[in-house]
Amino acid sequence: MQAAEGEDVAVQLHRGVEDVRRSVAAAPRRLPIRCMGCTRLLKKSAYAVVIAAPAGPIIANGVVLAFCTRCAVTTSQVRARAVVALKKLWPNAQRTAPN
Ligand SMILES: [Zn+2]
Repeated sequence: MQAAEGEDVAVQLHRGVEDVRRSVAAAPRRLPIRCMGCTRLLKKSAYAVVIAAPAGPIIANGVVLAFCTRCAVTTSQVRARAVVALKKLWPNAQRTAPN
C-alpha cells in the first residue's frame, strides 16, 4: 500500500515538472515564462523547478514554480525564493519542509 502511494506521489511530481518543462519549451516569444523570483525571462535550457503543496499524503492543490539561473544558484537560494513566491500565492502558508 505504501509503495503504491509513493508511486502516486512520484507520478504527480513527475507530471508537475513535465508540465513546467513543456510550458517553458512551448512558450511563445511574445508570452515568455518568467522567473517566479525576479521576473527575468527563463532560458528554455536552464531553470530550477520547485513543487510546493499543502502538507498531506496527496499533492493536491500544489503549485509548480520555476526560477532562473540567477535565482537558483544554490539550494538555499531556491528555497528562499520559493518561500517569497509562495507567500505571494498563499499569504498564510507556513513552511513544513526541513531546512
Ligand atoms: Zn530569477
